[in-house]
Amino acid sequence: MIPAKFDYVRPSSVEDAVSALAAGGDDAKVIAGGQSLLPLLRLRLVYPELLVDVGALDDLRGVTDDGDHLLIGARTTHYQVVHDPLIAQYCGLLAEAAATVADPAVRHRGTLGGSIAHADPAGDLPAVILALDATLTAHGPDGEREIAARDFFVDYLTTSLAPGEILTGIRVPKLGDDWGYRYEKFHRTAQAWAIVGVAALVRRSNGQVAEARVGLTNMGSVPIRAASVEAAVAGAQASSDALRAAAASADDGTQPPADLHGAPDYRRHLARVLTGRALEAAAGV
Ligand SMILES: Cc1cc2nc3c(=O)[nH]c(=O)nc-3n(C[C@H](O)[C@H](O)[C@H](O)COP(=O)(O)OP(=O)(O)OC[C@H]3O[C@@H](n4cnc5c(N)ncnc54)[C@H](O)[C@@H]3O)c2cc1C
Repeated sequence: MIPAKFDYVRPSSVEDAVSALAAGGDDAKVIAGGQSLLPLLRLRLVYPELLVDVGALDDLRGVTDDGDHLLIGARTTHYQVVHDPLIAQYCGLLAEAAATVADPAVRHRGTLGGSIAHADPAGDLPAVILALDATLTAHGPDGEREIAARDFFVDYLTTSLAPGEILTGIRVPKLGDDWGYRYEKFHRTAQAWAIVGVAALVRRSNGQVAEARVGLTNMGSVPIRAASVEAAVAGAQASSDALRAAAASADDGTQPPADLHGAPDYRRHLARVLTGRALEAAAGV
């Protein structure tokens, strides 16, 4: 289908983009890579009167070393995330998960900021930035503010970005060599969308798990941290038996959806199995 009619602007500064978005009110929407928004426009599931294209905001693209953090511009594409040397060195989980997003064409156009702002519970990268304890930077009519990833995802396709705010960057704490990681996802062969995904980070010390973080994709209306697994694993032996036993509670507190690809019980089973596998791989056992 052809999208409904809309106006289009392509500002050259964040300030101008924020002004255009604020002026457009509820009828304005940001467009970045368009890989999620364009299908919605074509299906006429959304019909904004104004699109504010952030494609000319070059400052929002790329990765910078910021001391104990990496600063990733919201317009950084999935392809760039997969191939960036700083991300490979300090935050390999993000590159591993981004490499599983869709296909090369989508990864060349789709952006990390777009994936996060879109807040699709089946999107791979929201659960990853949740597990990474990232902080999101937003610019709006009242200036700049930081939002912890755990406070960002509010509901299905809904974030805590205020009207008129643009997501400009993602701050990710650098992880040292003592951290292992794995993104496990189960999906249909023909499509990369996760039926369930698990992002695991494990810090080992003297044969034990000193700390673990687990983010779940598509186990509710928002990405979820598997808190009971994290608590059960902390201080445990870094052994397959201990990690798989802890993974048995991966579906605690989740509300997985029912759709053509799986019933909630099927997703609960997948979450437990994939969490066990992800923890084992991240712990290197
Ligand atoms: C065929 C296909 C397969 C896909 N498979 C997968 C998959 O396996 N895994 C996966 O995770 N994703 C998948 N995707 C989605 C893809 O990852 C998109 O790139 C991503 O969801 C959105 O990024 P974008 O830059 O294209 O955002 P857009 O489509 O431009 O925007 C998406 C939403 O975010 C908002 N937005 C975008 N940027 C900003 C910003 N800077 N500030 C505020 N709001 C903003 C827009 O207003 C819109 O509401 C797939 C997409 C397609 C078309």
